[in-house]
Amino acid sequence: MADIAFIGLGNMGGPMATNLVRAGHKVHGFDLVPASCEAAKAAGVMLASTAKDAVKAASIVITMLPAGKHVLSVWGDIVPAAAKGTLFIDCSTIDVESARKAHALAKAAGLPSVDAPVSGGTGGARNATLTFMAGGDAAAFAAAKPVLEAMGKKIVHCGEGGAGQAAKICNNMILGISMIAVGEAFALAEKLGLSHQALFDVASTSSGQCWSLTSYCPVPGPVPASPANNDYKPGFAAALMLKDLRLSQEAAKAAGAATPLGAHAESLYEAFTKEGHGDVDFSGIIRHLRASTRT
Ligand code: NAD
Repeated sequence: MADIAFIGLGNMGGPMATNLVRAGHKVHGFDLVPASCEAAKAAGVMLASTAKDAVKAASIVITMLPAGKHVLSVWGDIVPAAAKGTLFIDCSTIDVESARKAHALAKAAGLPSVDAPVSGGTGGARNATLTFMAGGDAAAFAAAKPVLEAMGKKIVHCGEGGAGQAAKICNNMILGISMIAVGEAFALAEKLGLSHQALFDVASTSSGQCWSLTSYCPVPGPVPASPANNDYKPGFAAALMLKDLRLSQEAAKAAGAATPLGAHAESLYEAFTKEGHGDVDFSGIIRHLRASTRT
């Protein structure tokens, strides 16, 4: 069992750190928000007074922070404080460029590193059923895998440094686009007098079949566990979908890739969040689609 530093004990990091404690690791935690620290302490995390202090005792460091600027600032602070051989893992969802810069910081200090963003949301974090998409060299990935297994059920090595973030934003771009496609189809079906169940029964067994329809149906009824049956409580908030779509468009721009539907999905989620629905589940975009008028 290892000494693990965990920086960023928020909605995702708190339960992930708890699962490491459950797996028998000694977890040294730090967050800027006292309430998050106290919740982690109650779950068995040993609190450090600074991120640097958390790292000093650790052979593995995990960060779970809001965005690339936070990761680079924290890694800039803690990488120099880490002992030789310490493995750095960033599980935040951040831009590919910052992920590569974070790897470079670790490499310059002679330390192994992995970017390992997650999907599965807060439920997956609590139940240790997250999917990790990892980028880094083979040795760093092999060292990270057993630790990630204490927090998730599927760990995929996607390639070199930054590949985990690339996989995450490509996947979520598919998700954002496909949810809009399914929402549009239901909105059109309503206007054509076709019942939700009839469209679902056909499309879920035909070529329109996809996860946004069959596992996360944006209208109440056909998939009882989907947020549509619970007044669109997240789930996965529209603001987080917008964040990931923005990351996909930044990456597409930097790489010179044409992603017209990704760009349109970003603008629709931006309009939805500007209307004040950022904390609504992302499948609630169907309400925005219904309210739009044809030009
Ligand atoms: P959150 O805001 O609840 O937690 C982030 C934590 O980082 C906060 O507690 C904050 O105080 C802390 N923090 C910020 N700067 C810090 C610093 N300098 N030092 C120490 N702590 C600092 O966010 P979250 O929902 O836990 O998400 C974390 C990451 O996971 C994000 O990148 C997000 O996009 C990603 N993610 C979230 C979900 C989800 O469903 N919430 C799903 C997949 C991925």
